[in-house]
Amino acid sequence: MISSLRTTASNPLTLLEPTSTIKELHQIHAQLLVRGHLGDPPLLSKFISVLALSQNNPQHLPYSRQILDYSPSSPTIFALNSLIRAHSKPPFNPLEGFSYYRQVLQSPSLSPDNFTFTFLIRASAHLTSVCIGAAAHAAAFKRGHANDPHVQSGLIHMYSSFRSSTACHRIFEGILNPDVVTQTAMIGAYAASGEIEFARKMFEEMPHRDAISWNAMIAGYSNVGRCREALELFSVMQGEGVSVSEATMVSVLTACANLGALDQGRWAHAYIQKKRIQLTVELGTALIDMYSKCGCVGRAMEVFESMPEKNVYTWSSAMSGLAMNGAGKQCIEVFELMEKEKLEPNQITFVSVLRGCSMSGLVDRGLRYFDLMKSTYGIEPWPEHYGCMVDLYGRAGRLEEALQFIKSMPCNPHTGAWGALLNACKIYRNIELGELAQKKILELEAMNDGAYVLLSNIYADSRNWKGVSNVRELMKAKGVRKEPGCSVIEVAGTVHEFFVGDKSHPMYREIEIMLGEINWRLKLAGYEAKTNEVLFDIEEEEKENALFWHSEKLAIAYGLIVLKEGLTIRIVKNLRVCWDCHDVSKFISKVFEREIIVRDRNRFHHFKDGVCSCQDYW
Ligand code: ZN
Ligand code: ZN
Repeated sequence: MISSLRTTASNPLTLLEPTSTIKELHQIHAQLLVRGHLGDPPLLSKFISVLALSQNNPQHLPYSRQILDYSPSSPTIFALNSLIRAHSKPPFNPLEGFSYYRQVLQSPSLSPDNFTFTFLIRASAHLTSVCIGAAAHAAAFKRGHANDPHVQSGLIHMYSSFRSSTACHRIFEGILNPDVVTQTAMIGAYAASGEIEFARKMFEEMPHRDAISWNAMIAGYSNVGRCREALELFSVMQGEGVSVSEATMVSVLTACANLGALDQGRWAHAYIQKKRIQLTVELGTALIDMYSKCGCVGRAMEVFESMPEKNVYTWSSAMSGLAMNGAGKQCIEVFELMEKEKLEPNQITFVSVLRGCSMSGLVDRGLRYFDLMKSTYGIEPWPEHYGCMVDLYGRAGRLEEALQFIKSMPCNPHTGAWGALLNACKIYRNIELGELAQKKILELEAMNDGAYVLLSNIYADSRNWKGVSNVRELMKAKGVRKEPGCSVIEVAGTVHEFFVGDKSHPMYREIEIMLGEINWRLKLAGYEAKTNEVLFDIEEEEKENALFWHSEKLAIAYGLIVLKEGLTIRIVKNLRVCWDCHDVSKFISKVFEREIIVRDRNRFHHFKDGVCSCQDYW
């Protein structure tokens, strides 16, 4: 490229590419200098702007700052706005954008325009306090730019990121004729504050909708966990022939990931390839996440390896997928590779790698990484990291050390840390510590149903029926209700939901017959119901019955009926899998020769030939 620079390019700026190295930048810079372009303020500004906004290359923005600092002529508002804009979103520091705003104010020949405020306000949305954003709002108002649609939509977005829905409403109501930009911002604001019905109402009533409005609505559904609606709306969007962008596909893939809807996720992947939608870092990362959360960690890693560009979130996502699927050792390998490539890990990376260690029982490795995080990378641990460490000790059966670790935490231990200990107490049947952990959780969250259920299961495992009934009574007295179990199975692109004891499915009769068949074939193979976890004070036979109506068994029975032989049954469950369902799944995988993959609240279980990938340890 550079050899042609001297001969062919009439304007060296056209040679600037996102991949240009520092050496190439020097050459382009030199050419501009030689031809006298740098004395031309519009061309200089263009150079600064192109560099500042080429965010794919981390070396370009600092270079544009240097040019600005050493430039003989004073910068234009265009150049300074570009720098503010470049700093308006992560990974750059949004506060730095404000230093260029000051430069605008200090320059006698410049005054801030609507773009200046649009970018300043966008930057403010990423700050931790609303004060600076409110000051930018006041300045925009004072200088007569508060009625610009882009400023207004930026304000709605900013206040919504500070969860200030009153301010969003006030701005929106002050707009005489809201256009598609401000209405779309308001859809985002409604969705962010959980008022998804209002968002949908506004969306339906919009006279004109563009691709960004569709995207805001689909993302809104996806972010609040209403994933089925997200996918439904996406198919309406396609029916209307709206062009689909990379951002929409990220939301679609997120919805597929949460639902564990592999068919639709695969379809979305094929669609991206067919429509030649650029595989950006965000999109690739969403694909990795989708495949991992659907239990296809192999496919996830293929996407990972094929990505031309990766950032720290991509690497973390790959590690998290491996950890979730029980591939702790590979997770560590990926981390080591990342270190070799000199990529700086962040908090999320360490959550993933610590999970990987925990899932594979690699206590010493985990301890080392926890230290490395602080000493080498200067990262202060989040509560999640402490939770991972308690889990690491707990899963390895080192309950005392887990407790000591909690006690040594510099901050107040959160429910996640105590919850990890409680879960370990369940695995290792430690009543005494389990009671302590549950007590601590309830001090922090009086209505935490999971803590009651886990403790009650610990009692049940030790046949301490008095303990079980005490917990039950306490739950009743305090009005704590157990979250109902729900399992989801996707068949031919349609998601079916089953609740515990659910008789509402159109194929309920067939499912009941299949459950009967499973029951006798499993018993012939030596299965015995594990009724310990049934909390009710009922006869054994009744308990067995209650167990057979657990949501994942209904979903598996349905899968056995409708999915052809050889097809894997994939289930996503909202709670942890109980012992009995785990056992039944193992037996079914052998007796019915059927692979079953269950994603529960914590991890994946791959059942095959009578064994589970978690090695009965979850
Ligand atoms: Zn169960
Ligand atoms: Zn398992």
